[in-house]
Amino acid sequence: MARDGHKYIFVLGGVMSGVGKGVAVSSIGLILEQSGHPVNLVKIDPYLNVDAGTMNPTEHGEVFVLKSGLETDQDMGNYERFLGRDLTNDDYMTSGMVYQAVINRERALGYGGKCVEAIPHIRDEIIRRIEAAASYNGSRISVIEIGGTIGDFQNALFIEAARVLKMQRPEDVLFVMVSYLPTPGTLGEMKTKPTQTAVRDLNSYGVQPDFIIARSKEPVDEKRKEKLAIWCNVRKDHVISAPDIKSIYEAPLNFEKDKIGEMLLEALHLNSAKKPNLSKWSKFVKAAMNKTAPEVSIAIVGKYFDTGDFVLSDAYLSVIEAIKFSAAALGQRAKISWVNSKDIEKACLPAGRGGAKALAALAGYHGIIVPGGFGESGIEGKIRAIQYAREHKIPYFGLCYGMQLMVIEYARHVLGLKRAHTTEIQKNSEDPIVDVMLEQKKHLADNKYGGTMRLGSYPAYLKKGTMARAAYKKELIEERHRHRYEINPAYVKKLEAAGLVFSGTSPDGVLMEIAELPRAEHPFMLGTQFHPELQARPLAPHPLFTEFLKAAVAQKKKKHLVSAVVRKAVGRLARKK
Ligand code: GLN
Repeated sequence: MARDGHKYIFVLGGVMSGVGKGVAVSSIGLILEQSGHPVNLVKIDPYLNVDAGTMNPTEHGEVFVLKSGLETDQDMGNYERFLGRDLTNDDYMTSGMVYQAVINRERALGYGGKCVEAIPHIRDEIIRRIEAAASYNGSRISVIEIGGTIGDFQNALFIEAARVLKMQRPEDVLFVMVSYLPTPGTLGEMKTKPTQTAVRDLNSYGVQPDFIIARSKEPVDEKRKEKLAIWCNVRKDHVISAPDIKSIYEAPLNFEKDKIGEMLLEALHLNSAKKPNLSKWSKFVKAAMNKTAPEVSIAIVGKYFDTGDFVLSDAYLSVIEAIKFSAAALGQRAKISWVNSKDIEKACLPAGRGGAKALAALAGYHGIIVPGGFGESGIEGKIRAIQYAREHKIPYFGLCYGMQLMVIEYARHVLGLKRAHTTEIQKNSEDPIVDVMLEQKKHLADNKYGGTMRLGSYPAYLKKGTMARAAYKKELIEERHRHRYEINPAYVKKLEAAGLVFSGTSPDGVLMEIAELPRAEHPFMLGTQFHPELQARPLAPHPLFTEFLKAAVAQKKKKHLVSAVVRKAVGRLARKK
């Protein structure tokens, strides 16, 4: 049970999805915390999946793994990045989790023979979970995002739980609706009607919003604020203008223009004397948005079907953000390009044409990343790209699958094990360089896929004198994982003898957590079995991403130097003629 006087802010979406509830929650969290009021942020996902781990990232967005190993929604990543700290299992809930808990209790006779129903049992389980999250060390305010849009069937029980909490403690609960104000091209005028209708929908649940965050293309003017105030029954100064912004990190600064923090605190009867200190944050935003910063060009090589950039940026959200944080810290601007590994693969087939050309295109980038992934599609293309990066000394950073494939590439082309493979793709591989982890075999045999990978934070020791150790500047690290396969210990010695360095291992020395080439061989060729991107934060960029980007910047300089030398030589030749 949360302490007396604990406050709850529920954030709901009106009109349509995708208007930035998650960013609103993250921004409110940052502002309140920087005003001296510790928060905890909670995401509620109304789907029946027990966690996000079984969902396709190109449809649902990235799976964000918490320190504990819980597989959650990408919004949780934004929460952690804005707050700058780790969240816990209590901070995430799905309908699947709630129903599973109630059904398990029912099977254990936990309801003493009663008929178990959505109301009150599911509703009360939701409230129990919200209160468990509220007991987070020293937090005084919970900011809770109810996923989906007002009017959806799926989130009605969560709204009902919030209503009951408000009824029980009216002084402690606030509702914030994030809504959208369209400006139809034909009219050129911003319309408030859809938001009015959404508020009426919310009213039909017995809930009245206290604040409206009005998302729109342009800032919301006074007239529109007045209209929303009258028709939606909300104080005019509680209508917060939230126009489109270039970077989500600007949102807290924008919200503060309308003094959202002060007003929320006032509405919660909390002391609002301290102005939020956003100076470090604005410094970061300035650096991240500096258009005049020099550009460094990074290719992410993956298997991308016919998805648009929009979908891709959601599927690899943390990777993109991690690149941006390190780039900002180095005073650089990262230009990220998507390279389809299937295109490289097709071009490199014996029957294909233009393999050399497809690969040569990679020389145009200052750094190459192969991110995490699963399955067969496009992997030969990725291996070709990795080989190209190694042979042409282009900085390369492999994340999870990107590390496993980097080691396979090394085994095939340096160690000479032509048939080197992963048993994820080739069950009976003659040289299973990457093999299923022992404890995973049973899960796979039993078709137990949900929540059974090697998940969450594990320690690793770093070898002296390696790039990894130099980057982290310490011996013991903890990073988050999400995989079933690992570098096969039977091949480690051979790979090392061939020049590959395993610079990070599990404390018992069995699992290879980082592979790299010595700096003398290659400016930056490093892969991690874990996902470093999950721990990169705006105000604490990840050291490996920073090192990778430093190498990419050096690569850019080298390329310029080479082209200057070539230009000079061509000029000399021309003059001689
Ligand atoms: N498919 C690989 C494994 O399961 C890599 C997973 C990943 O990249 N997250 O081990």
